[in-house]
Amino acid sequence: SNARPIRTRIAPSPTGFPHVGTAYIALFNLAFAKAHGGEFILRIEDTDQTRSTAQSEQMILDALRWVGLDWSEGPDVGGPHAPYRQSERSDIYKKHAEQLIASDHAFRCFCTTEELDAMRAEQMANGETPRYDGRCAHLPPEKTAQLVSEGTPHVIRMRVPTDGVCQVHDMLRGTVEIPWAQVDMQVLLKTDGMPTYHLANVVDDHLMEITHVMRGEEWLNSAPKHQLLYDYFGWEMPTLCHMPLLRNPDKSKLSKRKNPTSITYYRDAGVLPEALLNYLGRMGYSMPDDTEKFTLDEMIASFDIQRVSLGGPIFDTEKLNWLNSEW
Ligand code: GLU
Repeated sequence: SNARPIRTRIAPSPTGFPHVGTAYIALFNLAFAKAHGGEFILRIEDTDQTRSTAQSEQMILDALRWVGLDWSEGPDVGGPHAPYRQSERSDIYKKHAEQLIASDHAFRCFCTTEELDAMRAEQMANGETPRYDGRCAHLPPEKTAQLVSEGTPHVIRMRVPTDGVCQVHDMLRGTVEIPWAQVDMQVLLKTDGMPTYHLANVVDDHLMEITHVMRGEEWLNSAPKHQLLYDYFGWEMPTLCHMPLLRNPDKSKLSKRKNPTSITYYRDAGVLPEALLNYLGRMGYSMPDDTEKFTLDEMIASFDIQRVSLGGPIFDTEKLNWLNSEW
């Protein structure tokens, strides 16, 4: 049914050193796109101005290039959907948030930090999962208009169904059911007019014509919000694919206390980019003939996303060093 040309992306937030998990996700996005004659693009999600740095962005670009994962559109190469830095696109998100207000799929929320803290404390004391209780969701329009004209600080939140179940379709998991009661009335636009991840991510994936969203499984719980936003805007939903998380040998989530996780570390330690890609390509994935040593081009030539297995791939620096010595 999906007749659009295949387009995938990675959307790193430049808040630290270039992580091997970023290269892992980039590798599978690129392999999938190339295997289907599509494009792989890079977008920088730097809406969190307090944590994003230009230096981190540069390190991520350098690391991906070093390892040999090239993108065809992005912050440094431009493209038809430029700019590819979310910090340079805030007008676009604002316009879309206003559009959701106009269609009554979102509302202005004037709750102060103190009110939200008290709400949370009370919910936790009652043993409930903290979530926005909807107190601004049905303010009389005159009241909202008055508060806005007085310049009262506010955010824009999305409306969310209160009951029923959201069905999320994932390429590797089939249909996943998430009760709407677990989905918060997400803030879309912050008091300073900047978007949250959810709004900017959905708007950009749509405008950049992304057909397949392949990302780490930690984002699966965000899928209901995203699906709802696509519905509200009347846009076609990209196909979702949540990749398994890389793990330490003890199966805990990959962490730098147990394994170096910076691509720069491996580069400086003399690991060959081909060996690192080969190792990442074996994380939860195998070649049709079980070949263990393969190049990116070989991986692309026989790529099939259905060969990804979900059982927590182990990233072990010692195994990588051994594989590197064999290259
Ligand atoms: N900015 C998000 C990240 O840093 C992107 C997640 C996604 O791919 O949707 O991982």
